[in-house]
Amino acid sequence: MSNSNSAAPVAIPTRDAELGRGMRIRRALPNRGKRLIGAWCFLDHVGPVDVSEGDGLSVGPHPHTGLQTFTWMVEGEILHRDSLGYEQIIRPGQVNLMTAGHGISHSETSPAQRPKNIHVAQLWIALPDALRNMDPAFEHYPELPRQEHDGFSLTLLAGELLGERSPVRVHSPLFGTDISAVGGTRTVMPLRPEFEYGLLVLSGEVQAAGQTLVPGALLDLGSGRDSLPLACGDAARCLLLGGQPFGEEVLLWWNFVGRTRAEIESYTADWQAGRRFGTVPGGMQRLVAPPVPEGLRAGG
Ligand code: MN
Repeated sequence: MSNSNSAAPVAIPTRDAELGRGMRIRRALPNRGKRLIGAWCFLDHVGPVDVSEGDGLSVGPHPHTGLQTFTWMVEGEILHRDSLGYEQIIRPGQVNLMTAGHGISHSETSPAQRPKNIHVAQLWIALPDALRNMDPAFEHYPELPRQEHDGFSLTLLAGELLGERSPVRVHSPLFGTDISAVGGTRTVMPLRPEFEYGLLVLSGEVQAAGQTLVPGALLDLGSGRDSLPLACGDAARCLLLGGQPFGEEVLLWWNFVGRTRAEIESYTADWQAGRRFGTVPGGMQRLVAPPVPEGLRAGG
């Protein structure tokens, strides 16, 4: 297996962020100059965290534009409600895919009766310019293709792998798989040289491309590889994400993906005025959009 053109992979530490009231997040994207892996433009890893006390997870109605939110549940349950009227509990092994297009709003909360812990990856996928103002949509995928591969269990989140194709509806050449193993094992994952890739460990310890990784780092693999050696010593789980380099400058601010500061300003004004984003059932208090910084611009 040749990896002749690829640079040495770089492990980028995640940064800490907060979700709702004091719930710690490891933010892998955007982070330290790393902004995109294909169209994957945002990657939060939450938990496992105990949500048995109080309200648990409680993120009130907030808007999105220009992206798809992709929620991958590892442990626990989250109740999604959106302005299209969808109300969906997501459970382990399931994906919620919300396409914001020109505008949608949603809330994310713990159901009243719930398991003790939440462990979840929330990702955003930037929509290409030609589609980013499409109509909003919501899709729930109760199960995804699973394959056994050299002692690893692979769940195909997006794109194609080993002859299988994920049903998850994405709008650019994209790849994602959850890789888990209960015991020690090793394999070689096939990659596409024209795609760029990143690897994020969700639990345990994983050896990849000569590096040992634990939760709290994103391994930036770049492009130009046709394979990835992967091993783990004991129970371990990771996400391998990839895609064709996106080729568009995107501007992320708060929960919006746009292209210009003027667009972000208009999204913010529309949210504050109660336009564009509809209404989320449930009566929770809406989140307040932060002011748009003067110097906000793509690539900044
Ligand atoms: Mn959201």
